[in-house]
Amino acid sequence: MTINFCSLASGSSGNCHFIADDSNSILIDAGLSGKQIQLKLGEIGVEPQKLSGILISHEHSDHIHGAGILSRRFNIPIFANKGTWEGMEHKLGSIKEDNIKIFETNKPFEMGNFSILPYEISHDANEPVGFSLFNGRTKICITTDLGHITDEIKDHISDSDLVVLESNHDIEMLKAGGYPYYLKRRILSDFGHLSNEACGNAIVDLVNKNVKTVMLAHLSKDNNFPELAIETIKSILSMNEIVINKDVMIDMAFRDRVSHLYRFCK
Ligand SMILES: [Zn+2]
Ligand SMILES: [Zn+2]
Repeated sequence: MTINFCSLASGSSGNCHFIADDSNSILIDAGLSGKQIQLKLGEIGVEPQKLSGILISHEHSDHIHGAGILSRRFNIPIFANKGTWEGMEHKLGSIKEDNIKIFETNKPFEMGNFSILPYEISHDANEPVGFSLFNGRTKICITTDLGHITDEIKDHISDSDLVVLESNHDIEMLKAGGYPYYLKRRILSDFGHLSNEACGNAIVDLVNKNVKTVMLAHLSKDNNFPELAIETIKSILSMNEIVINKDVMIDMAFRDRVSHLYRFCK
């Protein structure tokens, strides 16, 4: 069974990830414009009308921006929990009743061969979740937009072939930068975003839980840059005697381009 995965974009200007097996093609979040998502799907040779669903992690616009238009244009169901539906319904525009799908947080559901678990994360939204997608052989988890990472989340993520994990900001850059005080506090809080350092420390635990590849995601445009995120994480891993490319692969999701396209054949 083959699974394809890539990040179409990630960052505060829009998040959208793609996963597919032989029977299903799924978007996780649709935070770019509908047109942008169509273009990026085109880059990887996917026709949007083939999508079987859009999973939404939470109602912030960088995760839902194109969801309504894609659903209307191509008749695609949107999957979210009740809290997220309440938070996003008025922003999406009208969605056909058949395309409104409600899942429950912490309860697995099936889509074709995929067993999908939406698990709770802490972020300043109604009912934010991360997703684990498992087809019996390959497991992929997507966890961005979280103020801190708990042992429960690490357990959900364990044994993943690939994890998309937020590495949002460098704490010093954020503190020294020009964001208003309330926003700095929000980002640094338990309901904000994960720092490079927190991400690095989480990866140490995830390597011990048999995670094979981590894709750093949702990097801040103003308070981070890819080289800094990678360097911070590398130094935390080496302090813990973890060797990149041997014990774990570290990759990156980009704000403005499609990531590496992974193909898992098991
Ligand atoms: Zn958010
Ligand atoms: Zn976000």
